[in-house]
Amino acid sequence: MPTFTPRDVTAVTGAVDNLSDTLIALSHAISADPELSYDEHRAAARCADLLERQGFAVERASYGQPTSFAARIGTGDTHVILCAEYDALPGVGHACGHNIIAASALGAGIALAPMVEDANIRLTVLGTHAEEVGGGKVDLINAGAFDDADAALMMHPTPYDEYGPKSLATEEWVVVHTGRASHASAAPELGLNALDGIIAGYNSISMLRQSFRKYQQVHGVVVDGGKAPNVIPERAEASYYLRAVTMDDLEDLRTRVRACLEGAATATGTTVEITVNGHVYESLKPHAALVDTFTEACDAIGREFHADPTGDELGGSTDFGNVSQRVPGLHADLAVYSFPAVNHQHEFAAACVSPEGDKTMLEAAKALALTALAVGRNPDMVKR
Ligand SMILES: [Zn+2]
Ligand SMILES: [Zn+2]
Repeated sequence: MPTFTPRDVTAVTGAVDNLSDTLIALSHAISADPELSYDEHRAAARCADLLERQGFAVERASYGQPTSFAARIGTGDTHVILCAEYDALPGVGHACGHNIIAASALGAGIALAPMVEDANIRLTVLGTHAEEVGGGKVDLINAGAFDDADAALMMHPTPYDEYGPKSLATEEWVVVHTGRASHASAAPELGLNALDGIIAGYNSISMLRQSFRKYQQVHGVVVDGGKAPNVIPERAEASYYLRAVTMDDLEDLRTRVRACLEGAATATGTTVEITVNGHVYESLKPHAALVDTFTEACDAIGREFHADPTGDELGGSTDFGNVSQRVPGLHADLAVYSFPAVNHQHEFAAACVSPEGDKTMLEAAKALALTALAVGRNPDMVKR
């Protein structure tokens, strides 16, 4: 299978190395200025500005999404999309390292730009906003952003390397119990405690956990637990993530968790309202030929594989799952050598702007660019 040539490796490596200061500056600037899902205006603008300066035709707020962008170059037959994420988390900032995802996608795109015609590629660097909450890629899928894509590629920083990871399907539930306020001391018998509804539901789910199927998960936080101890809470709210490895397991989980929450409402005399927040994230379906090519690319640039010593761990979710169920997709997890610091910890945010994090970002840009070139030169590998 012809993939990329030694000349491609030299060209891509040189282009990314020439650009390394700019890419590292972009990565650090995004990390230092965290913005939450659907609010990533400055990060999207930083990326769009740089791509425009590098000769891409940039559409801001693309596909009706205020914090997305689409930067295009090339007129070839094979449409390759590089996904750039750049949203952060509440409280812990860029602790998922999406600054590295953005900078590596831009690095790959800019390195490829002079080579797209030769490789018969039409390239889009797509600003894929709102990964942590909501599912921006599902908004983009629904608006047609991936309709004519032949391949979609991205990387994600992690403690260890895994070029073809799997992930769990997930759905977020917002749970609101409504009761009746009353004086907690003078007339408690006239109140209905909404916080008790939340606590009973939480505890019921905790007991259910012992009979979960493999990889079924539920985790939650109380968002609103009332206003004052001497007022019986009339409203309380929790947020839960339900996760499972298949859509069938997710549906099973929905039924059983709903029973816990409705039972809690009955027991406490409150009412419960359950709403789904954002889109369902589907599980990742890595495309075998893309994973193989990316692995070859990492070998070609001299990146050593740094495996998780505990073996194959399945955890986390991504809206790239939905993309990968529709388009041949690569979501390569690349080590920033941070263990025991893991994603969503303050220490992981620091690892993603460390010299090791920067090095991983530059290597990811090179390997993504080489993978895209291979797709352009051998489009049969992604023909469905
Ligand atoms: Zn994350
Ligand atoms: Zn992430």
